[in-house]
Amino acid sequence: MSNAAPDRRCRLRGRLATCTRSAFTGRVQFAFKPVPAGTCAASQVLSVGERLIPLLLIRHPRARRYVLRLRPDGSARVTIPRGGSATEARHFAERHRAWLERQFHRQAAVPRRPTTWLIGTEILFRGVPTSIVPVPDGASNFIHLGSERIRTSGFEHDLRPAIQTHLWNLASREFPPRVRSLAAAHDFPEPRVTVRNQRTRWGSCSRRGHLSLNWRLIQMPPRVGDYIILHELCHLREMNHSERFWGEVKQVCPDFEMAERWLKRNSALLR
Ligand SMILES: [Zn+2]
Repeated sequence: MSNAAPDRRCRLRGRLATCTRSAFTGRVQFAFKPVPAGTCAASQVLSVGERLIPLLLIRHPRARRYVLRLRPDGSARVTIPRGGSATEARHFAERHRAWLERQFHRQAAVPRRPTTWLIGTEILFRGVPTSIVPVPDGASNFIHLGSERIRTSGFEHDLRPAIQTHLWNLASREFPPRVRSLAAAHDFPEPRVTVRNQRTRWGSCSRRGHLSLNWRLIQMPPRVGDYIILHELCHLREMNHSERFWGEVKQVCPDFEMAERWLKRNSALLR
């Protein structure tokens, strides 16, 4: 929630996922959420409906306007721009109580990723909620995730490290040829591709034509993963989020808005 018109350069800003250009590296990044920054001006309490919630007022020297967010821990945060005041920040939050209440309802409806992966835990694989099951032949320490057979160090431990390593390797084999195929189909130059374990990005594109993709794309429906690849490929033509950039995206991925909606609904399952 902001007191200015939404930034047309990035349709994902302020959502679970956002896409920003790094001032430091010049890369355009497809990220889970903005990196928090700034210094705390005050910590207060705000009533929202029947709740009393913590309200953090954070000064940010580069902010140009007041911005209100509901954080995953249930507290609210107002960014104070240069020249702004804690008093006005509080008034800004008070004026948008109804918006905060709507965000509480949305937050409650967002599915959460399980923190520990055990036998029976359901995780996303190629867009489908898939249960982790022991292999039926009784071979010790192997599990199945859909069609994948994965060695683990034992069922009593968190299975996530073993499964993540397996999925990362699988993504490293599958994504580079998929990128080359999509690049060829839409007349993009063939980029260099790296599959990484980014904590805050789905993908990025450098000015030198190097695409980095998050292995977690393999957990998404293939059409959503393709959208992220195509989004990054379009940055080879437009290194920004201008109207021209979104025109390129629409041309190569006409149903990209469906993919964005999926990301907004399901990002929390993949973080
Ligand atoms: Zn982008």
